[in-house]
Amino acid sequence: MPRINRLPDIVANKISAGEVVQRPASVVKELLENAVDAGATRITVSVKEAGKQLVQVIDNGEGMDEEDAARCVERFATSKISSAEELDALGTLGFRGEALASISAVSHFEIRTRRESDSVGIQLRYEGGEPVEKGMAACDPGTMVSVRNLFYNVPARRKFLKTNATEFKHIFESVKAQVLAYPEIQWQMFNDEQELFDFKSTDIFERINFFFGEDFAESLIEVHEDNDFLSLHGYVGKPAMQKRQKSEQFIYVNRRVIQNRMLSQALQQAYGELLIERHTPFALLFLRLDTQQIDVNVHPSKLEVKFEDERSVRTMFYTIIKKAVRSQDFSPDVGGVC
Ligand code: ADP
Ligand code: MG
Repeated sequence: MPRINRLPDIVANKISAGEVVQRPASVVKELLENAVDAGATRITVSVKEAGKQLVQVIDNGEGMDEEDAARCVERFATSKISSAEELDALGTLGFRGEALASISAVSHFEIRTRRESDSVGIQLRYEGGEPVEKGMAACDPGTMVSVRNLFYNVPARRKFLKTNATEFKHIFESVKAQVLAYPEIQWQMFNDEQELFDFKSTDIFERINFFFGEDFAESLIEVHEDNDFLSLHGYVGKPAMQKRQKSEQFIYVNRRVIQNRMLSQALQQAYGELLIERHTPFALLFLRLDTQQIDVNVHPSKLEVKFEDERSVRTMFYTIIKKAVRSQDFSPDVGGVC
């Protein structure tokens, strides 16, 4: 008798869920990425009890047919790549095909979806990854995913969640990062049934001022550079305006939210002595590189990237920011007014 068992999918999904879904904010991130990948132009995200009771994302994207709707919660089931080579040319935020499998394994999960060309949609419900309901649904074209009672079957994880205030903060950060990255999408958000925002215009400054404070846009320097190797666009804070010790930094690579120590350090160094000691500058920066130059498949959370030519990226990033910041002729002593 062999002692090694091949784990059933449902168990495997529950185990790997630990890497993809750390907290409600991870669910929000994955669902928003799917909505963006589906080509949605309008996305509504609703949470209740900081996502512990409900995370719901409604999009008007391409939707799924019946077969795909049933398949989307399977492990390693994705419409975004079909071969390993395609990993080098990713044009989508998702590619691992494990988010919905993981999320549905540790929640009460419901999906309603309809393609524009279908007259009726489909609704599926799962509990802990087990299918419990399947039927037709009258719904608008697009997809609605509702994730209820996250970690209801993983008590250790549920207990580990922080207060609603803290969990909501993580959710809001995650939503904010996407809302800033995709101004062409109309984003709406509800927290415990209260509307927080509904951005209908594509004006990025409306969003910047909403999130960071009235007139915040005035304290920004535009970064605008294209060369053969990369392009870097966005905004960084004027040095003298960095009143907050830790300003927020949003750095995107090919429109993907990422965390990268090397880039954060390069940013810090580009300001050099212009920053008050231990202060970090504000940044909302979009770095674009040939897809062959980056590897996103570093961790299941897809928050890290590896650069093929890290040195060149670092040097160019540093030089561009430095030039933008120095061109302002600001110093901490000037007091922040022109
Ligand atoms: P991935 O995004 O890595 O492909 P997911 O588990 O997040 O994996 O989703 C699995 C598949 O389900 C996607 O590849 C896509 O085909 C489909 N899907 C998920 N969410 C949506 C959505 N909101 N609209 C349309 N299709 C979706
Ligand atoms: Mg996905």
